[in-house]
Amino acid sequence: MISEALQRIAPSRTTAMTDRAARLRAEGRDIISLSVGEPDFATPRHVLDAAKAALDAGQTKYTPVGGTLRLKEAASLHFRRDLGIAVPASQVTVSAGGKQAIFHALLATVSQGEEVLVPAPWWVSYPEIVRFAGGKVVPIRTGAANRFRFSAGQLESAIGPHTQWLMLNSPGNPTGAVYPPEMLLALAEVLRRHPRVMVLSDDIYAPLDYTGARHASLAALCPDLADRILTVSGVSKSHAMTGFRIGVAAGPEWLIKAMERLQSHSSGNPCSISQAAAVAAFEGPQDFLAEWREIFRARRDLVVEAVNAIPGLSCPVPDGAFYCFVDATPLMERFGDDEALAMHLLEHGVAIVAASAFGGANGFRISFAASEDRLREALRRIAGAVA
Ligand code: GLU
Repeated sequence: MISEALQRIAPSRTTAMTDRAARLRAEGRDIISLSVGEPDFATPRHVLDAAKAALDAGQTKYTPVGGTLRLKEAASLHFRRDLGIAVPASQVTVSAGGKQAIFHALLATVSQGEEVLVPAPWWVSYPEIVRFAGGKVVPIRTGAANRFRFSAGQLESAIGPHTQWLMLNSPGNPTGAVYPPEMLLALAEVLRRHPRVMVLSDDIYAPLDYTGARHASLAALCPDLADRILTVSGVSKSHAMTGFRIGVAAGPEWLIKAMERLQSHSSGNPCSISQAAAVAAFEGPQDFLAEWREIFRARRDLVVEAVNAIPGLSCPVPDGAFYCFVDATPLMERFGDDEALAMHLLEHGVAIVAASAFGGANGFRISFAASEDRLREALRRIAGAVA
């Protein structure tokens, strides 16, 4: 018998679709998987070398639960240099991916009936983690008209006496929404009127901002709010290190300690080898990130143009991350719902994730973290499948 808590949540639909695509491929089917947000680039050589060196040096034992001091210091450098957030190593923790940091932060703080504001469309795991923790998800609806960003007015009206957290994700998954400084400052004005509300700022896609502006992070812009902001980052998306499972989080010391208390009973420390690799990622060369971003930008432009040329499909231009959030409303009469459309596209050799997995509807998310050739072929298949 599974627990009441687990009954409240569904399996992750991003990972489920990715596993399904992998199974079909193993059976010999030709499937292009644009379902998961995972850079197709090889992990940089200097990162691999650091992992090997750690193995050879016998760094194969437990580390401190919240990560080695070396990695906490490297992450502190990353927060300061890349996100503008000045935090000492004591306000940083390391976990098995950003996902685990979010999981532990919410589980450590949300009590029965507390409310968490989650802008929709959302990343699949946010609402599930809230529900697992016993909290209540309060969606803040966004749409293509405002490039999937909510306003200060929407925030003000969503906050109630039980609001505990606001989830903020810029650049955002699944829509690519980016909040410029002026929008964040307007949100901050509202937050100042509600001192009880904390913010979980998921900045994992910070290097992938196509607006040309420097990434804006709430804790950097508003240091007066920093003691109630947890900023989550990592190396998975930036350095093509998804399999290493390293996420980092910076926030007030009480919260970092609470997360580590929980981690001490769940996974314990993150993988020692991966931690050494993450030190190299944060401390090593960063110049290739701009090159990768330009490659992603070209892929984004290719996908947006191709999607908008297919009758029945449309998508706005995402300002960040590597996702296009496609509207397929005109096709719903034919296919029934977006999950049926996703299955139909899978039959035609392309794995994507239905918009409903993200609290959206009548569409799907394309991850454009694949080569231009693969993307062109995938879009050709999609066009054929819905023609
Ligand atoms: N965050 C990525 C995605 O949305 C990885 C899969 C997951 O953890 O959901 O595709």
